[in-house]
Formats: sequence, C-alpha cells, structure tokens
Amino acid sequence: MVVVLEKNATDKQIENIIKHLEDFGFAVHKSTGVQQIVLGAIGVKPDFDTRKVKILEGVAEVYRITEPFKLASRTFQKEDTVIKIKNVDIGGNEVVMMAGPCSVESEDQIFTVAEIVAKSGAKILRGGAFKPRTSPYSFQGLGEEGLKLLRKAADKFNLLAITEVMESSQIELIEEYTDIFQVGARNMQNFSLLRDLGKASKPIMLKRGLAATVEDWLMSAEYILSNGNRKVMLCERGIRTFETYTRNTFDLSAIPVVHKRSHLPVIADPSHATGLRDKVLPMARAAVAAGADGLMVEVHNDPEKALSDGPQALLPEQFEELMKHVKLIAEVIGRKM
Ligand code: PEP
Ligand code: MN
Repeated sequence: MVVVLEKNATDKQIENIIKHLEDFGFAVHKSTGVQQIVLGAIGVKPDFDTRKVKILEGVAEVYRITEPFKLASRTFQKEDTVIKIKNVDIGGNEVVMMAGPCSVESEDQIFTVAEIVAKSGAKILRGGAFKPRTSPYSFQGLGEEGLKLLRKAADKFNLLAITEVMESSQIELIEEYTDIFQVGARNMQNFSLLRDLGKASKPIMLKRGLAATVEDWLMSAEYILSNGNRKVMLCERGIRTFETYTRNTFDLSAIPVVHKRSHLPVIADPSHATGLRDKVLPMARAAVAAGADGLMVEVHNDPEKALSDGPQALLPEQFEELMKHVKLIAEVIGRKM
C-alpha cells in the first residue's frame, strides 16, 4: 500500500500515521520527495480496509497495490481456467455460444428455439425457470416444470443447459437438471447463495451486478471459489449508467480488464446489456473482438408474445446471421467458433 501525505503534514501527524501503520502490522518505508512525503506500507493484507488510513490527519491519498481477491487472480493462477462440460470447453480457444429464450414458457416454445439455436451452432441452451422480475406481478417462471422442459429440449438437440438459481433452497433441485448454474445480476452479492454454490459440483456463471465494479464482481467470484467450487465463469451483462437509449450500458472494456486480472473465463451478454434486438448483433461482434470466451444471447420464435424480455430477443433468422458474423470475427482474432 502506498500512502501519500499532504504537502503540509506536520511531524506529529507523520509520526502518528507511521505508528498506526505499524500497529496494523505493516513495515513502513518513508521516502521524502521534493514536494511530498510518501510512505510505503509493506505486508500483504488482502482484506485491509484502506479507509482506516485515509481518515488519518495528514494523509492525502492511499493506493492499494495488492488485489483483495486471491483465488480469482492471475497472480494465484497464471493459466486461463478452462471449464470442461461434456464435449464443451469454456475458456479455451473456442468462443462458445449460449442461446435460448429469456424464460422457458412451454414445451412447444423451448423445443422450437432449441432446434433453431442448435442448427446455427450454439452449444448451450439457456432458459429461465425461476425468474428474477422487477415486478412481482410479472411472469415468475414455470419452476420445476420449466427445468424439466429445458433439460428435455437440451438433450434432444445435443446441447448443454444453463438456468438461473435465485436462492439456496433451489440448488439441489436445479442441479438435477442443469449443466451450469446462472447467478443473475440481482444476486451477484447474495453472499449466502454464493457460499452455498461453492459447495455445488456444477459450474457457475456469475453475472455482473447492475452497479458492481469489476473488483466487487471478482470478490463475489472469490466467495464461490473459496468455498470449494473452482468452476466459475463471469458474465458481463451491462451496468446501470445515466444513459437511457439502451437498457444498460455494455461495459466492453471489462472483458480485457478481467482477463488481465483474472484467469476465469468471461462470457458477454449483449441482450441484457442493450435490451433492444437491433443492438444485439453489433455488440455481439464487438464482444468477441474484445476477447469474450463466449456469448449469451436471447432468442425467441415469437418474441412479440414472449412472457419476458421479448424486445431484446432475436428472431431465428437474426440469430443465424449473428452466428455467421461472430464466427468471422473469431477467426480474425485466431479463435474458433
Ligand atoms: C436473464 O439472463 O434472463 C437475466 C435475468 O439476466 P440478468 O440477471 O443479467 O438481468
Ligand atoms: Mn432475460
């Protein structure tokens, strides 16, 4: 940690700051610059709250050098994590496509969409059975019936399945049907759920919270990893900003930022990030160009009648076109799709 002192810090204040740092367990190195004194506080303390130093009289700025996350960091593991699920590798050279409706709505709907996305080259079928809706009066998902339909449709078209888990009490049930658990944006900091998923045996896709920094997000991944489950992938799905022309703001730069800091695979979700069907194709291309290890895209056979997220769902022919485009982008950067 680096502690920059105020230009007019008094000797008494400096003495007090050094004493506090030593009491916190740091070894302190003082360097006197032309204008300012800088203290180097040595000692790895990932969970140290830098505000304890920031509030001391005479301190101008505090910078942390070591990252607060450990198991998720590149320092801990240099090589990319590759999550193997049956015949699919996530985090390797191949860009993996996850696609399907926002919600599983009926047998006819999920089988129709599964066939379409499989034909275009998707490897993983998405579909929510438990839906986190902003309004309690909106469609909440089919529950176990939805899980059964998702599994049957995935198996029929040789796809893996991913679906959202909203609370710990659902883990056992969902684990019977899914290949990957999705943790939604609204649950990114549901720490008891994350802890319990750390004990699950199936991989987890952790979506970024609506107002989460990359560090918050990686700390949430740390909850799962530190409880024993090392099969964690992250999903950038847009964050809330002041912009209103899109549903969220797609933070594309988070993809290379996370890749530099962490070995975990990063999936990108241009559907929730933009909220509008006509923005999904260009942002899917951009996400692959930025290095996403996979995409999650919403597709519906009849989006106008969809029970959730219809306006952002791609029509079957649009999904086919998207697959062609992202394949080309993947090739340009030396990846497969
Ligand atoms: C979803 O995937 O349908 C979903 C609700 O996503 P998010 O948690 O990113 O809003
Ligand atoms: Mn959705």
